[in-house]
Amino acid sequence: KIYVLRIGHRPERDKRITTHVGLTARAFGAKGFILAPCDEKILEKLKSVERRWGRFLEIIECTNSPLGYVRRWKKEGGKVVHLTMYGMKVDDAIDEIKKSNPQRLLIIVGAEKVPWEYYEHADWNVSVGNQPHSEVAALAVFLDRLFEGKELYREPEGAQIKILPSRRGKEVVDAAEESRGTEEGTL
Ligand code: SAM
Repeated sequence: KIYVLRIGHRPERDKRITTHVGLTARAFGAKGFILAPCDEKILEKLKSVERRWGRFLEIIECTNSPLGYVRRWKKEGGKVVHLTMYGMKVDDAIDEIKKSNPQRLLIIVGAEKVPWEYYEHADWNVSVGNQPHSEVAALAVFLDRLFEGKELYREPEGAQIKILPSRRGKEVVDAAEESRGTEEGTL
């Protein structure tokens, strides 16, 4: 079970990128998204995507004490990854993570300067290259390497609409109609 904790969100300037962190967590295989500090608008946006495109996330919530959240996570036996350009190489970290096979993994991504405590609490401080780039890029690459690409075409529960892969053009179908059709076909 993999959750993503986005810390240091600045409601006045990070709305779009934080939404993208949440969408990336969802599309690339995470089961939970936790935002700090709280910004209800972002949670509502993610919930509306889940309603329309289907359920991947079991938790969409926020906290105003993210360090407390991390401490509780660890107390309950969970492991922590912190994505930072200063960390160990992503492939080395993923080898270790797979060997230790944690039941619960919290992935922390920052916005601006990340307080030192997070580096200390992390079981793995992980870099996706040693150049500065973006929390969205770092999260996508990390999750894709962790799941070896298998997360990309999972089918969510309860989608209203669904895309049919197409070489050219846009093919979107009513997912509810489609599943009713399949049920009828199997009777
Ligand atoms: N200067 C900040 C710091 O002290 O960590 C980095 C800010 S960066 C715009 C925002 C976030 O993107 C970071 O907190 C980290 O989670 C992620 N990030 C950026 N580049 C990264 C890299 N090369 N590897 C892993 N994560 C990265």
